[in-house]
Amino acid sequence: MPPKARPGYPDDASHMNETKMDSLVLVEPMPDKAEKQLQNLVLFAARGHRVISIGGARHSMGGQTLYSGGILIDMRGYNQMHLDSSNNVLSVGSGALWSEVVPYLNKYGKSVLIMQTNNSFTVGGSLSVNCHGWQAGSGPIASSVLSFRLLMADGKICTCSRSENQQLFSLIPGGYGLFGIILDVKLKVTDNKAYRMYQYVMPSGDYLKAFRERVDNNPQIGMVYGRINVNQDNFANEAILSTFRIDDSVAIPALKAPGLSAFRRTVFRSSASSEYGKELRWRLEKLVVNLGKGKIFSRNQIMNEPVDIFQNSEAGYSDILHEYFIPVDSINRFIDEIRKTIPKYKVDLMNITIRNVLEDRDAYMRYARKEVFGFVMLFNEAIDPGADREMRNLTQKLVDIAISLGGTYYLPYRLHATREQFYRAYPMAQDFFKLKRKYDPDEIFQNQFYKAYK
Ligand SMILES: Cc1cc2nc3c(=O)[nH]c(=O)nc-3n(C[C@H](O)[C@H](O)[C@H](O)COP(=O)(O)OP(=O)(O)OC[C@H]3O[C@@H](n4cnc5c(N)ncnc54)[C@H](O)[C@@H]3O)c2cc1C
Repeated sequence: MPPKARPGYPDDASHMNETKMDSLVLVEPMPDKAEKQLQNLVLFAARGHRVISIGGARHSMGGQTLYSGGILIDMRGYNQMHLDSSNNVLSVGSGALWSEVVPYLNKYGKSVLIMQTNNSFTVGGSLSVNCHGWQAGSGPIASSVLSFRLLMADGKICTCSRSENQQLFSLIPGGYGLFGIILDVKLKVTDNKAYRMYQYVMPSGDYLKAFRERVDNNPQIGMVYGRINVNQDNFANEAILSTFRIDDSVAIPALKAPGLSAFRRTVFRSSASSEYGKELRWRLEKLVVNLGKGKIFSRNQIMNEPVDIFQNSEAGYSDILHEYFIPVDSINRFIDEIRKTIPKYKVDLMNITIRNVLEDRDAYMRYARKEVFGFVMLFNEAIDPGADREMRNLTQKLVDIAISLGGTYYLPYRLHATREQFYRAYPMAQDFFKLKRKYDPDEIFQNQFYKAYK
């Protein structure tokens, strides 16, 4: 669910972007009615010089779905699905949540090819940031998209694919809703499988070596991710590599509600602002490495976790994410840098996960310009200007480190990077914004991200 906010003042997952908007439009539930409704809305905005912002589940954190005085479209009603199982192609409305898609595909023994770690996001929001996940040997989601239909600023609908309207096809992933409204998307899907989990503990400096040995060139590994410890004493010195290996010899477990969630949530949240809690959590996680060895999960089960299992629910606090994409050769230097840097700031770092992302060959605003490892950091932050200032300072420092190592940072989060850092991290952004104005000359589609960096 998008965050609760005062009526007329929508917010996003940061709880720090309450914005007075002119109106909130819920998309009609019937696809053909919705299309007409959205076309009329776009033409109305064009005639009246109004701004439209597009919202999915609004889990972005920097006002990417908001614009002061604008019209906010909530796309979540546009969630129809159809599976062509002989060709492994899902046609899906952009407002569908993965929590709707995963159980739908599960009925047919199929599974999403690339999505985030959690199921709480819409297909349109995921494509617009060009998300990535734990699926082994994968680039961002754009590589799993065959085509989509786009409602453009002139009210026309066009189909975009690698052979039709190719420029728009590359601008939409990572396009942050600036080129039009994604209607429906054709996604490649794969088979649901049974996976056995194996985890390995190691010094963080050996993570890359372990990843290369256990994951590379191993088609049996279906999913993989890493964690780095965040307890102060031994900060960023250890890592756990978690792999999920296909096992066709056992039955695929039925899809059920995420397991042990109350317990896992308690362990996770009680480590907020608590050194003892963080120490205990890391010890428990290492213990589970042995207890969970060889445990069977279905692929769909792993991808069916909502964000609220771990999400903050304490008033006055928020969970804030960062992600830095670091080229393979530099990941040990990045780990050394964060070990030195993060303890100098007054922030409460809850978690670091590592994901491997292969080179992106589709998107214009690419963050994975070659194979990278994404370091995702989750902070528990008080909602007050002092805490936000500290987070801004830390973000700018980490962005500089990432850029100096040939890497970049992820754009759906807080807009804390400076304009100068943004253009250094995304040198194609100047042309990206020129193309935005080519396709949307009246700047109907806007949001706070566009306002900050255009
Ligand atoms: C707890 C948490 C975990 C996360 N984990 C991951 C992860 O594992 N991997 C990862 O890559 N990212 C991750 N993210 C980031 C997440 O992928 C993005 O925030 C994503 O945009 C969320 O989808 P949404 O539906 O909430 O999009 P929104 O926040 O609603 O929208 C994001 C952007 O997409 C645009 N948009 C939405 N729908 C449409 C549409 N139909 N047409 C055109 N534009 C549209 C919006 O205008 C906006 O600019 C995580 C975020 C959170 C909060």
